[in-house]
Amino acid sequence: MNPATAPEAAGLIASLLFIFGLKRLSSPRTARSGNMLAAIGMALALGGAFLLPGMGHFGLIFLAIALGAAPGWLLAKRVKMTAMPQMVSLFNGMGGACALFISLGEWAGGGADERAWGRALPTMLGVVLGSISFTGSLVAFGKLQGLMPEKSLRWPGQKLGNALVVIVIVVSCAIVPSSGSKMWILIPAACALWLGVAQVLPIGGADMPVVISVLNSCTGLAAAVTGFAMGNMSMIIAGTLVGAAGSLLTVLMCKAMNRSLAKVIFGSFGAPAGAAAAVQGDHVMREIAASECAIMMGYARKVIIIPGYGLAVAQGQHLAQELDELLEKRGVEVKYAIHPVAGRMPGHMNVLLAEADVPYTKLFDMEEINPEFSQADVAIIIGANDVVNPAARTDPASPIYGMPILDADQARNVIVIKRGRGAGFAGIENGLFFNPRTRMLFGDAKKVLQDLVTEVKAL
Ligand code: NDP
Repeated sequence: MNPATAPEAAGLIASLLFIFGLKRLSSPRTARSGNMLAAIGMALALGGAFLLPGMGHFGLIFLAIALGAAPGWLLAKRVKMTAMPQMVSLFNGMGGACALFISLGEWAGGGADERAWGRALPTMLGVVLGSISFTGSLVAFGKLQGLMPEKSLRWPGQKLGNALVVIVIVVSCAIVPSSGSKMWILIPAACALWLGVAQVLPIGGADMPVVISVLNSCTGLAAAVTGFAMGNMSMIIAGTLVGAAGSLLTVLMCKAMNRSLAKVIFGSFGAPAGAAAAVQGDHVMREIAASECAIMMGYARKVIIIPGYGLAVAQGQHLAQELDELLEKRGVEVKYAIHPVAGRMPGHMNVLLAEADVPYTKLFDMEEINPEFSQADVAIIIGANDVVNPAARTDPASPIYGMPILDADQARNVIVIKRGRGAGFAGIENGLFFNPRTRMLFGDAKKVLQDLVTEVKAL
């Protein structure tokens, strides 16, 4: 192969690997190999970059790679499943920072043609989008990691201030290419860095996953336009794939939560509480013992398991699967109801249950399973809260009003496994727990499931 064409060939193969990798990520069965394909593609694209004409400073490049790869590898190895969203956010922010610094580097090192609009536009976009996604993702990381208040943070004139910042960015981007000094590019960069902070700080609560997804697509677009500025095909393709995947995920999550994107970005989910109406009824939680619960399930015809964030925290998925197997042996039909935003990341419950070898055929999406709750003898909620909160259907004052939920309250009996009276992610009371048909089985999900397994075995 002609050495001059090697980087292009590597880029082309890498791009194909990204596309096939992404395709395989669409099913849990093929996701692992898809991830591997994409990783090989990335290694190829990186390797190809070393062959580009004019490359030098290899010592510095390898040092930078080592400095980035070592903590990245360690963090990825050690991260808990439940901390994945903040991890994604942090890595996403690094992608934004890359787009920002590469664009700044192109701008600083480029010749006179850099100022022509065809070249300047992608560079400006790379700087602006990269900056927004860099600081926006860091704020999202801080919120999810508990380093700053997770709730919405607002201040007077915040929306007007953001609008003014956007105007300054647009005007300065229009002026920079014809300005005297290249340093003027730091104005839109600084404004966009602030915009990322100011735009994400007021968002909180259950809107956070959508924000992460929006920032993800923003990073993808930043990488794609930076690829245009550099004339790098694999960056354009990889960036476009990330941008498109992030946008599709955003649309799907908005649909799952019945929120418009505008409401997420400019709305007030997670604003200081007080709006939600008080839970109706006697406000008494009725408890049940594990032995009684085992009898209820062991002699049922149909049991629907609703996994939630608490199951993931407790790492009780293997015991849930064991309980399911024991019940099936007794002739009980067992199904799992999967809410699209149960847990802390898209597909969280699917991954968690796949880890415990629960067959995919037993996992049912919300629309499929909801009509079946009325025929279920028992709906057992394991560490879930918001995704079964009837306030989403009935209480217009509730911050989750309008979010489609699992109709657990339609089952003949509802069992809730949770440690105490703690609220869910949205921080609101759940009337289902006070429903006369609901029984609370308090304790850590893993411990309670172990007790249930023992009790069902003894039946
Ligand atoms: P929630 O966060 O609403 O509720 C989880 C419940 O689990 C809590 O009420 C808690 O109660 C209980 N719990 C916590 N630890 C344990 C444990 N060790 N054992 C037993 N129970 C435990 O979870 P859901 O899955 O119902 O809802 C997910 C929420 O997270 C939604 O609001 C969603 O929008 C949001 N979200 C989703 C993301 C996604 O992409 N899926 C990403 C980010 C947020 P107690 O303390 O009393 O035990």
